[in-house]
Amino acid sequence: MKIAFIGLGNMGAPMAANLAKAGHTVTGFDVAGATAEGVAQAGSGPEAVAEAEVVITMLPNGAILRSVADEIIPAMAPGAVLLDCSTVDVDSARAVADQAAAAGLGALDAPVSGGIGGAAGGTLTFMVGGSEEAFAKAKPLFDIMGQKAVHCGPSGNGQAAKICNNMILGVTMIATCEAFALADKLGLSREAMFDVVSTSSGSSWSMNTYCPAPGVGPTSPADNGYKPGFAAELMLKDLGLSQQAAETADADTPMGQRALELYRSFVEDEGGKGRDFSAMLPRFSDRSRG
Ligand code: NAD
Repeated sequence: MKIAFIGLGNMGAPMAANLAKAGHTVTGFDVAGATAEGVAQAGSGPEAVAEAEVVITMLPNGAILRSVADEIIPAMAPGAVLLDCSTVDVDSARAVADQAAAAGLGALDAPVSGGIGGAAGGTLTFMVGGSEEAFAKAKPLFDIMGQKAVHCGPSGNGQAAKICNNMILGVTMIATCEAFALADKLGLSREAMFDVVSTSSGSSWSMNTYCPAPGVGPTSPADNGYKPGFAAELMLKDLGLSQQAAETADADTPMGQRALELYRSFVEDEGGKGRDFSAMLPRFSDRSRG
């Protein structure tokens, strides 16, 4: 299949490389000049998409997605599918899908879970919004880049699933970190804390798979000086999206709101920018000491 890939950053580059490795003809474009293994480089977005049957975008946010869509949709081949894998707001996802449909194109919003490890290893989970027909066309590509693709319903529903998932992730990471800081104060070893909670009703992905305490549980960014992984500012972005969606939909999400406030202070005032989102643990420990 002829594929165009726009946005060859931390996630996009390994995803595009996996498609090329599987035998697809991939042409890429990144405004910063980034490249990916096995991917031909185009001079612009419109040039990259001209002959593609599927155009994949992996961009930082909804505003950038909208501006890229304005550029590439008029240049896409009739009947092609625009597959956006970025994490963006539901409104941007639906607006871009409408714009693509008006131009006679298919569109899917398909944000991912699994991080840069999942992108490199081809083990991402895709949460997909859009038509059955477009989903069927993209399915073989999901199977290369990931281990699971869930069709969540019409356009925007992939992003809805992603922001709900990440709101749970932000909240459980904070709860796990504050519980470790409390356990420290109570004289409980971190090893004992992990052994109990990871097999008890307090268990979660944040504790069991991505333990925020260094030297405890499976290897995680905590064992690498809290180098991301998943940066705190990206978690802040995702919590902003879930609170924005909650406000629009009139949903009551007080824990999501509190997690947003804590990550905002962490990123903007407490040196959290550029650190993994699990670095909330030293943040709680430091504050507890004061
Ligand atoms: P990144 O910043 O590394 O990559 C984004 C790329 O887009 C950059 O290379 C940038 O130069 C390029 N770009 C920006 N504007 C462009 C334009 N107008 N035209 C072409 N290219 C342009 O970010 P990332 O970590 O790869 O994340 C991409 C998306 O995936 C984000 O929406 C993020 O929230 C989401 N995501 C990231 C992770 C993760 O662990 N990093 C996990 C899941 C989802």
